[in-house]
This record gives sequence, structure tokens and C-alpha cells, in this order.
Amino acid sequence: MARPHAVVVPYPGSGNINPALQLSKLLRRHGVFITFVVTEHNLRRVQAAEGAMAGGCEGFRIEAIPDGMLDADRDGQDYDIGLSKATTQLFAAPLRDLVARLRNGGGGVPPVTCVMPTSLMSFALDVARELGVPSMVLLGFGAAPLMAQMRLRELKDIGYLPLKDESCLTNGHLEKTIIDWIPGMPPISLGDVSSFVRTTDANDFGLWFNITEANNCTKAGAIIVNTFDSLEADVLAALRAEYPRIFTVGQLGTMLRRRDLSNVDKESGSDSIDLTLWKHDTECLAWLDSQEPGSVVYVNFGSLTVLTVGELAEFAWGLAATGRPFLLVIREDLVRGGGGVAALPPEFLVETADRRRVATWCPQEQVLRHRAVGCFLTHTGWNSMLESIAAGVPMVCWPVFAEQYTNRKYACEVWGVGLRLDEEVRREQVAERVKEVMESEEMSKNAARWKEEAEAAASPGGSSYENLLGLVKALEDEGS
Ligand code: UDP
Repeated sequence: MARPHAVVVPYPGSGNINPALQLSKLLRRHGVFITFVVTEHNLRRVQAAEGAMAGGCEGFRIEAIPDGMLDADRDGQDYDIGLSKATTQLFAAPLRDLVARLRNGGGGVPPVTCVMPTSLMSFALDVARELGVPSMVLLGFGAAPLMAQMRLRELKDIGYLPLKDESCLTNGHLEKTIIDWIPGMPPISLGDVSSFVRTTDANDFGLWFNITEANNCTKAGAIIVNTFDSLEADVLAALRAEYPRIFTVGQLGTMLRRRDLSNVDKESGSDSIDLTLWKHDTECLAWLDSQEPGSVVYVNFGSLTVLTVGELAEFAWGLAATGRPFLLVIREDLVRGGGGVAALPPEFLVETADRRRVATWCPQEQVLRHRAVGCFLTHTGWNSMLESIAAGVPMVCWPVFAEQYTNRKYACEVWGVGLRLDEEVRREQVAERVKEVMESEEMSKNAARWKEEAEAAASPGGSSYENLLGLVKALEDEGS
């Protein structure tokens, strides 16, 4: 049997690169040959982030293609929208050339048997079809956000979208409008369906793009989801009724930690490949070692969120008021207008000097699994939220963008592991919610239960473990 060869094409942000890399490592451990496609811009960033290792290893190669963006457009507030436009319009041609070049293999590379983009990259599915290569898509989020986004089109058709006027954004309309007909989902407010409902423009790019991309996932031969069956049982059952080829293989970090899924070290060398775009502050792990179990508040807003200076100050003073030690991660580009860590109020730095650690980027999964961490204040990006669930850490949730509102809904009201923060950040509420989460026995019990569920799913006989084997088999079948 020929070795399967997947060309993995993540959307060029950490929320997609990370799970795509984790899945690639798992597949490689099972003998799948991987070509991992990054943008030239991101490859330069990986190489510049000291400590990050791009390279490649047996059965894993990296290819870089241009993302088509002008450097001047990378700093703007709408970076993600610009990136989505650029990838959609300009990525297809170089990707087509790459897949065409590799299609028949040669020089130690087996013929390509699958093109595997993440969500938001459906042009790659078209490229695969044009070249006659099978395809599968890896979602950058869970089953519930997919189901919700697939319904944006119906919400448009029945006149809920775009919003009638600007007042709908502030008069409680988004919270009061309840959608109770999405298959497999509990009643959900319009505002929790997606950030892209927040528009009065019928031609809004974000809305159009997300409707198109959510529905285009079904063009793929299979949908791979970084989730586990018991976490999203109802919505997965509803999705599978429409699209039976769904492989749930998460939480990917938990799966990767299982050594019995790996024959890689003894047979084909290490897969410690790292594609982080920022330099990791690994010293924060040593700082965590010095803290009491369950005492630390960990705060991180992911790779794309942008805060105002005022919002950062409210979060900072809220943390100060908890009286707890905290690890606060502030990316260089987190604060609108720049400033990074320097945007923190100087008095706050003095007042909290003995119980804070500030970092610009950290090894998040290791941090969340550290025994010192007792609460995660998060923007509820899918990966961050799932990493927290798999580590058994309850959350304070402050969504900003895309599917993060749906994630918060599930964390707070379905899984019982989170509390909401208002959109307008207030220090008193930040302190109150952090304390409530850290003192709640119920939330801690729920979090521990979901951690066990995640472990069980990743164990032999568990849903994710078995689905991964099924996915490998499907890739082998495509190649034969
Ligand atoms: N991440 C990390 N270190 C950080 C911040 C984030 O390793 O300091 C990783 C995090 O573990 C997750 C990803 O970056 O895997 C962020 O993805 P997510 O879906 O949570 O949010 P996004 O960045 O897409 O908004």
C-alpha cells in the first residue's frame, strides 16, 4: 500500500496553525506523510521567534507560499478580515502549483492523496477537486459553532440579518432575540450565534465570508473536528445526520500526550517541531512552580484579539483587586495603538509586583495543565477554551470575535465551567467573577468531570482515539 500523503493548509493564524500541526503530528505518527503549508510571512516569523523550530523531519516537510498581503495592511484593526480576503483571492494559484508539483510524488515524497485545509480556506477544496485529489477539512472550532454558522444563511433569509439599524447593537435586541430551532442546539440568542451578526450592512464581508465558508465545509470528503463526542453529543448527532463523515479527534493536545499513539520516537525521530509565531516565555512555568496549587489566575486573549488601553487597565485593576497571584499574557500587538506591556498602568505594576508575572506569549497548554492554575480569564477562542476544558480549569469568559460567543454560551450554560463578563469591561466585575469561579465547588467539579471525559475520549476504545484510527484508515483508503 502506498503511503498516504496529506497536504495540510491551515488558515495563517495560531488558532488554525496549532490544531493543524497537532493533527499533522498525530497522523505522521500513524505513517501519514505530511506536507505542511505555511505563508512566507509566517515562516519568517517562526524563524524570528527564537526557540521556535521550523525545519522538518522524516515524513514531515514544510512548504511556504506567499499570502499576498502588503506589509502595510498587517497592522490594521481589520488584519483578520484583510488576511481572509488575501488568502481567498490570492492563495489558490500558488497552492494549485504546489499540489500539482507534488501530486505524482518523486524524490522521496509519495504522491499526494489528500488536500487538508482548515476552515476558512475552502478555495483549497476547489483546488483539490480541480486536480482530482480527495480532500478533508479540519475545523478551527467545534461542532456547535459550525452548526450555528451554517444557520447564518437562514437567519439572513428570514430577515434577522443584517440588523435593521445600529440601535439593535445596543438596545438588548441581540440578547433578547432567541433562536430555538437550530438542530442539536439549545435555544441561543442571536448575539451568541456569531460576532458576524453585528452588522447592518447586507454586503458585509465578514458575514458573507462566514456564511460561505461554513457551508463550503461540506464540499470536503470529510470534516475533522477538534472536539470529543461527549462534549458536543447533541449537536454532533444533528450534524452527523446531515454529514456522516465527521471525525472527532480532540482534544488534540490530550491525544498528542498519549505515548501509545506514538511509534515515532523509536522509528522515525522526534516530532518536536514548533511553529509558534511568538517567542515563548517558558520561564513563567518556573514562576508557576513557586505558586500554591489552584491559586493562580491565568489571563490570555489569544493571537488576534485587540484591546483598548482602557480595557487593559480595567482587566489589570480587576486582577489586582482579586488579591490572587496572576499570569497576564500581553502580546506585543494586543493593545490598540501599540504599547504592549508598556500600556499597563505604572501604579498597577508597583502594587502587584510581588504576585504577578507578565509574559508576551506562553506555552499555553503547559500553563493550563500546571497545578498552580485555578482559573482562566479567556477570550474563549475555541482552542483556548478546549485546552482549558481538557486541563480541568474553569473560566471567566470575555468573547470578542467570530465563534467565541457560541463557545462562551456552551462553557457557561451547557458545560457549567464558566462565567460571563459583560462586553464593557469593569474592574469590579472582573474581580467578582474571578473570585466566584475560583471559589465555586460546582464549577470545579464540572471542570474535573470534563477533564476526565477528555482523557477517556483519548484512551483506547474512546471516541477520539478510535476516530483517529478511522481517519488514518480513510486516508489510506483514499491512497489505494
Ligand atoms: N496560544 C499559546 N500561547 C499564548 C496564547 C495562545 O500557545 O500565549 C495558543 C493557544 O494555546 C491556542 C492558540 O494559540 O492553541 C489560540 O487559538 P484560539 O482558538 O484560542 O484563539 P485565536 O488566537 O484564534 O483567537
